Amino acid sequence: MKEFKNIREKLDRLEKTYRSMTDGGKTASYIPELADVNPRLFSISATSVGGESFSSGDSDTLFSMQSISKVVSLAFALERFGAERVFKKVGMEPCAEPFNSIMKLEISSNIPLNPFINSGAITVASLIAEDLGGDAIDAVLEFASLCAGRRPENKLSVNEKIRESEASTADRNWALAYFMHSTGALTHTVKDSLDLYFSMCSIEANTVDLSFIGATIANGGLSASGVRVISLDTVYILIGLMSTCGLYNGSGEFAVRVGLPAKSGVCGGILCTVPGRMGISVFSPPLDERGNSVAGVKALGALSREMKLRGL
Ligand code: GLN
Repeated sequence: MKEFKNIREKLDRLEKTYRSMTDGGKTASYIPELADVNPRLFSISATSVGGESFSSGDSDTLFSMQSISKVVSLAFALERFGAERVFKKVGMEPCAEPFNSIMKLEISSNIPLNPFINSGAITVASLIAEDLGGDAIDAVLEFASLCAGRRPENKLSVNEKIRESEASTADRNWALAYFMHSTGALTHTVKDSLDLYFSMCSIEANTVDLSFIGATIANGGLSASGVRVISLDTVYILIGLMSTCGLYNGSGEFAVRVGLPAKSGVCGGILCTVPGRMGISVFSPPLDERGNSVAGVKALGALSREMKLRGL
């Protein structure tokens, strides 16, 4: 692919430049297992819509997807229930508050603003959990693995240690879920909804996997091997919400600096999609105060400019 000319050299250069450019960012301390991650880790991967993939840095390192899983759970729910049913439970507007804020739920609307903040992702999880019961996480893992182009014998899985660490320090998420249950925004049980939500946040992947998911979205929902994994209608919704809500209350600044549909997580990963062209993922654990990877945003900004990923 012509635009992948010299890509290895470009990714190597970004790795060298940005690995330590973390500007005093901190790993997510509210989840003990994440606080202990090596802050010096860095990896970046790019995968074309045709499945050519290149990486630099620690691209074998697996990390929990955290909020990046919200892209997968939304896509799964849209495919299974259709947009009408999903958007009865969750809105499609950006949120200017932190990702785990409870405030807007009380003062503005009954349903969460969008599926990429915690409250919205918990309602999406509750839809899936209510429908699939104990089979829910396996079905989501199967779907995520297809999007990531993983072979059936090498499927994505949940890191149980991280799941437990997260579940034991999740007062905020319990508060959000109970609040939504009290207003009727969440109709399924709080416990089962959160069980699935924590499991999905703890799905492990590396930047290669995430760049393949980005490439599947960039390819209109066809995986690199040409299999339809996501419908085009769902892809349009993902692109719209990733562009406007993907980096929480940092989405506006990211749109200016990078200008691509993306989703971040407190793991320090970012999944990015360049429609029609490629998927990109970067991982560097230190976060800014909004929960986005400091070096990750910088590296993506540089790559976006260098490869004219905005089209200009
Ligand atoms: N598991 C995290 C939480 O629920 C996900 C948040 C995130 O990545 N921003 O708090």
